[in-house]
Amino acid sequence: MLEKIVFPLCNCCKKQTTETKFGLCFSCFEKLISFNPENRCKYCGYPLEKGSNICGRCFSRKSFFDAGFFLFPYSECGKALIHSIKFEDKLEYLEVINFFINQLTDFINGKEIDFITYVPSSLFHYLSRGYSVPRELAKRLSSFFNIPYKKIVYTKRPYKKLLSKSKSVKERKSIVGNFFRVKSDGRKANGILLVDDVFTTGTTVNTVASLVKKNNVAEKVYFFTLSMVVKD
Ligand SMILES: [Zn+2]
Ligand SMILES: [Zn+2]
Repeated sequence: MLEKIVFPLCNCCKKQTTETKFGLCFSCFEKLISFNPENRCKYCGYPLEKGSNICGRCFSRKSFFDAGFFLFPYSECGKALIHSIKFEDKLEYLEVINFFINQLTDFINGKEIDFITYVPSSLFHYLSRGYSVPRELAKRLSSFFNIPYKKIVYTKRPYKKLLSKSKSVKERKSIVGNFFRVKSDGRKANGILLVDDVFTTGTTVNTVASLVKKNNVAEKVYFFTLSMVVKD
């Protein structure tokens, strides 16, 4: 008797496919990894038209980070991939960073990064899933680039749950501002790499960067996120 072959569905376009890679069909996966804008904001890495070097957001607010990089936009396939990693326990999909390793190496090279740290997940996510995506990501980068890894950012209370309901930028700022603390051993690093999963408005990364600097933990703060919300 012939068994019925069940083809997997692509997490992004939802079409049936013979094989998936990171939960995506071939064409969705290709689209995801081909993201490589020629020109980016010199602070946050946001894709820009040729000729400009700073995005509207970095132009209009004080950025406490010195430079940042992300791999793919938080939309369609990027969003589908992050969802599998965060909520379907597909931590092995973090290996997608291998497909961007040249760009990532270009970003890391030439920067004095004494250690890699991460934005902690909310206690809620951590307790319900048992892992923290930013921490796993930081560990992988640490072993790949052979840069030490150190936890310095802590949350006071579960905060991301509060952020998830649509809040204004001002409200987000005050929530985020009150929920993080940064610990220091008294030695000031030249530079650190702060890792998070998604850069939405940048409030989280910017707030943590400001705490790092205020507490004299590092001279320079660079950030890396898997994904960033990018408007078309
Ligand atoms: Zn697809
Ligand atoms: Zn920017």
